[in-house]
Amino acid sequence: MPCPAPEYRVSDPGSRQLREFELIERYFARRGTRHPTVRLGTGDDAALVCTPPGMVLAVTVDALVEGIHFPEQTRAEDLGHKALAVSLSDLAAMGAQPAWVTLALTLPRGDAAWIEAFAAGFFALAERYGVQLIGGDTTRGPLCVTVQAAGLVPDGEALCRSGARPGDLVYVSGTLGDAALGLRLFQGRLRAAPEHRDAALARLYRPEPRVALGIRLRQVASAAIDLSDGLVADLGHVLDASGVGARLCVDRLPLSPAYRALAPLVGGLELALCGGDDYELCFTVPPTRAPEVERTARALGCPCTVVGRIEAAPGLRLVDEAGVLLSVPCAGYEHFAGEEG
Ligand SMILES: [Mg+2]
Repeated sequence: MPCPAPEYRVSDPGSRQLREFELIERYFARRGTRHPTVRLGTGDDAALVCTPPGMVLAVTVDALVEGIHFPEQTRAEDLGHKALAVSLSDLAAMGAQPAWVTLALTLPRGDAAWIEAFAAGFFALAERYGVQLIGGDTTRGPLCVTVQAAGLVPDGEALCRSGARPGDLVYVSGTLGDAALGLRLFQGRLRAAPEHRDAALARLYRPEPRVALGIRLRQVASAAIDLSDGLVADLGHVLDASGVGARLCVDRLPLSPAYRALAPLVGGLELALCGGDDYELCFTVPPTRAPEVERTARALGCPCTVVGRIEAAPGLRLVDEAGVLLSVPCAGYEHFAGEEG
């Protein structure tokens, strides 16, 4: 007896109706890069992958919910890019080379034009990093995108949060606070010159995962994390995991021209210290290895800036260039923080 057709439909009376199967086939199946570790990709009950000898898999998953992790009205192509970028950023923080991903899409309707644009943004980034989509799922509901990503790293060389030691330098890549600035611009809470507005919005919608930097930091950095929740919160995770503290010099924070122009309107350095979504790397390095970081930064065209130093005493201390202690303006973004008590 033949299998009955699935009753479930992703449909919208006002647009083309697509069965779930058609949707996957048309936009996602057998598209993009083939990775050598994948024996069997989409189309079966499960994918088959292998891990080369001497390598381990770094695996991460992120769910992005509309209205929580990205604003409503986010363009589909930007969302396709960002949903993958945040997972590749986690792999970068571990020093892993991205290999394959799975994708779960929860959609309010089967809007073919939206899905096509989403897939275009997703696969453009996937192909740039040689990542193969090996499986997925679609359901109907409030818009939510979940990406699981896996990367390869030589056994024993993964960057972890727990390796920072007193005396290590604290680095950040790129510039800080731009995505938070972009969110305020998008929400209409701030006005800016077009070039500053475009630069900040690009950082919000098109973050670039620091994959090449993470790989070059293997055996150089003592600890690393990607900046998803803001420097104060994310460096805090490194300090907790390593059992150390740090002194950060706020005058050293790397800021973009857009941020410098708008800083007086957004509380000075608050977004650079506490704003999320930048997806830069924060990492610690023994001072003797600093020249290697400088060489890597030049080779990749990726600025890496020393913003502080690890200390034995627990806690995060903010100081200015003169060494005057400043108050920390935030505790970082915490999910469900408003629901406690
Ligand atoms: Mg992370």
